[in-house]
Amino acid sequence: MRVGVMGGTFDPIHLGHLAAASEVAHHFNLDTVVFVPAGSPWQKADREVSPAEDRYLMTVVATAADPRLIISRVDIDRPGPTYTVDTLRDLRDEWGGDADLFFITGADALNDILGWRDTDEVQRLAHLVGVTRPGHTLANPGLAPGTITLLEVPALAISSSDVRARVAEGAPISYLVPPGVESYIAKRGLYRAGLTGAAAPTRRATS
Ligand code: NAP
Repeated sequence: MRVGVMGGTFDPIHLGHLAAASEVAHHFNLDTVVFVPAGSPWQKADREVSPAEDRYLMTVVATAADPRLIISRVDIDRPGPTYTVDTLRDLRDEWGGDADLFFITGADALNDILGWRDTDEVQRLAHLVGVTRPGHTLANPGLAPGTITLLEVPALAISSSDVRARVAEGAPISYLVPPGVESYIAKRGLYRAGLTGAAAPTRRATS
């Protein structure tokens, strides 16, 4: 099996993420792509992150129609900050030693990989794939040649931060996120400016 591991906060998941998964699956002839919403994105102490269950459910809704895409709760269910080395160890246990893992995430996020926990093991466990939006400079962050592939994905002109900002100002997000995700955001009142209570972001990433 050739398994893509799509790591991200997905706050919210958008059509750019789905296009990126499809593009990487095509490029590497992947059998499946597992979306793994981050549990506690430890580098986001500067902003509120929506509750993990909301981000998980939006990811389920967004991927429901495509049998090649599945979801894993490993990062949400593991207590403490999310580290990719733990993600990959858990999925390696789940899929077995014969599976080839391809860890896919934003090239911006991978830029800092040399400062991640157990970087060497991360590279042993998976081939790394950094996807980015047009106009962004693609550069190897200093890893050995052959361990990382950088791909430009035009649909990544969409960003989660832009979707959040548009909801806050009442602008439309149709055609930026799947219809089910748009409905979920409205139903739960996510990203609305000044919102307090159960539907507002409740957890601040720590450490
Ligand atoms: P981020 O800093 O929120 O995102 C940086 C950029 O990458 C943003 O432009 C973001 O766009 C994009 N991006 C993030 N995930 C993407 C994806 N799957 N596909 C396409 N673009 C993506 O990154 P993050 O969400 O916190 O972290 C990304 C992944 O790296 C997660 O799996 C996280 O656990 C892992 N990570 C691990 C460590 C560690 O082990 N120490 C440290 C940092 C991150 P959008 O906002 O539009 O998605």
